[in-house]
Amino acid sequence: MSNDCILWFRKDLRLDDNPALHETIKHKNVIPIFIFDSNINEYAKIGEASHWWLEKSLISLNKQLNGNLKILAGNSYNLISSICKKKKIKFVYWNRCYEPDRIILDTEIKTKLKNNNIKAKSFNASLLWEPWKIKNKSGSFYKVFTPFYNRGCLESDKPREPLEIPKKINFIKLEENFTDYKFKYKKSKSKWYAKLEKHWDPSEYNAHKGFEYFLSSGSDNYSDGRNFPSKKNVSRMSAYLHWGQISPFKLWYDAKKNMKGENLKTFLSELGWREFSYHLLYYFPEINKKNLKEKFNSLQWNNDENLLNKWKKGYTGYPIVDAGMRELWQTGYMHNRLRMITASFLIKNLLIHWKYGEKWFWDCLVDADLASNSASWQWVAGTGSDAAPFFRIFNPMTQAQKFDKEAIYIRKYVPEIAKLPNKFIFNPWLADNTTLKKSNVELGSNYPFPIVDYTFSRNRALKAFNKIGK
Ligand code: FAD
Repeated sequence: MSNDCILWFRKDLRLDDNPALHETIKHKNVIPIFIFDSNINEYAKIGEASHWWLEKSLISLNKQLNGNLKILAGNSYNLISSICKKKKIKFVYWNRCYEPDRIILDTEIKTKLKNNNIKAKSFNASLLWEPWKIKNKSGSFYKVFTPFYNRGCLESDKPREPLEIPKKINFIKLEENFTDYKFKYKKSKSKWYAKLEKHWDPSEYNAHKGFEYFLSSGSDNYSDGRNFPSKKNVSRMSAYLHWGQISPFKLWYDAKKNMKGENLKTFLSELGWREFSYHLLYYFPEINKKNLKEKFNSLQWNNDENLLNKWKKGYTGYPIVDAGMRELWQTGYMHNRLRMITASFLIKNLLIHWKYGEKWFWDCLVDADLASNSASWQWVAGTGSDAAPFFRIFNPMTQAQKFDKEAIYIRKYVPEIAKLPNKFIFNPWLADNTTLKKSNVELGSNYPFPIVDYTFSRNRALKAFNKIGK
């Protein structure tokens, strides 16, 4: 019998602070594998930007492992049990995932392996507090963020300290013939996501470098600056966190060492929002499909495909909305303030069901995350458990005037109206003909008229939502 073990990488594509990797120390050889299993929703329904990110990340992880990572395609259990059989392996380790279908599948895999005398052990690498650990006083789960975080998380056990990279691990490559995963996006230069290359280079190294940069140059004004899309005060760690190229434990403790006061408090609480999203996903496994507040099921939507497509590509005629949607389409990322503005515009002003927006974000975001994406869309819609009230409708003009006062962000992503003076750049349809002409803007030609009247659409939304709310 061999003393070797399998290390199954999943959403923990890193060596630093990796508890499953630590468990392998006692083994002579470690066989690292990754399985692209289309029985798992995360892979079967993977968005294009995420798929691009994952493939780049696997290439990078494989380099870190000196080319020993075996990247397979197929059924997870069948593959793992065949490898165990062929190599006479008795130990399999992995870090846990928290998507509902993965929890079911992992439990099955563990049981089946154990029934075959194989020791399967899983660890927590990606949540500061696993969802079942946080309970309210009556022993149930939390539905509202503030008590969840303040009482549930902060008064519970402290997150564990991060683990260092083990000094000596002997990785070996599985040479046997199993079905290798075929990289899909490696050469697709003509696809939209090819441009993501200009903005991201996914790797554990870049995750750490990016966070160090944030700590040294953006974090000292986080709590205020995080609201302004043209400022560099956010960490941009979300995609790295999603694929586990950096650990939330590291972010938590490094932030505590390097940040102070309100900036620290706000940053930790944002990590708390991520935890809360996973808490909700655990207790509402259909959060991406169903309104948490069921009374909203009867809301009369106006799911107009033509309007949806204009929103997707950033041609609504509302500059701040268009800037946000174009940031997403060009970079695979959108600043949080813009996620709220553009989501509110789709749901409330266009009266299009949040699930269409959720789906578009899922395809385009490099940080697309089942828990955070669904919970956030329901939050904006007002249909979630801890929702912003449905009557809160973000006004795109006042949001832009407040958070992009000099229109730096708008001018960057909507260059065709860049020459408009600040007075009109938030609402070009109010500009007189001379100003439009001087600024090279021809409404209805090189930039659209608003696709919906703001006041009309706001009143329509309030009416539709009020019918339900009462
Ligand atoms: P920072 O401000 O630097 O925050 C640090 C980390 O805290 C983030 O990386 C993220 O992991 C976490 N965080 C911050 N804000 C939130 C939040 N509101 N909810 C949950 N976690 C948060 N986040 C995703 O990771 N994936 C998604 O698919 C996603 N979809 C969203 C959809 C909508 C409609 C909205 C309104 C928000 C969504 N968010 C999502 C949350 C948030 O916008 C992003 O996490 C954040 O913008 C990422 O940028 P950052 O890493 O620079 O954040």
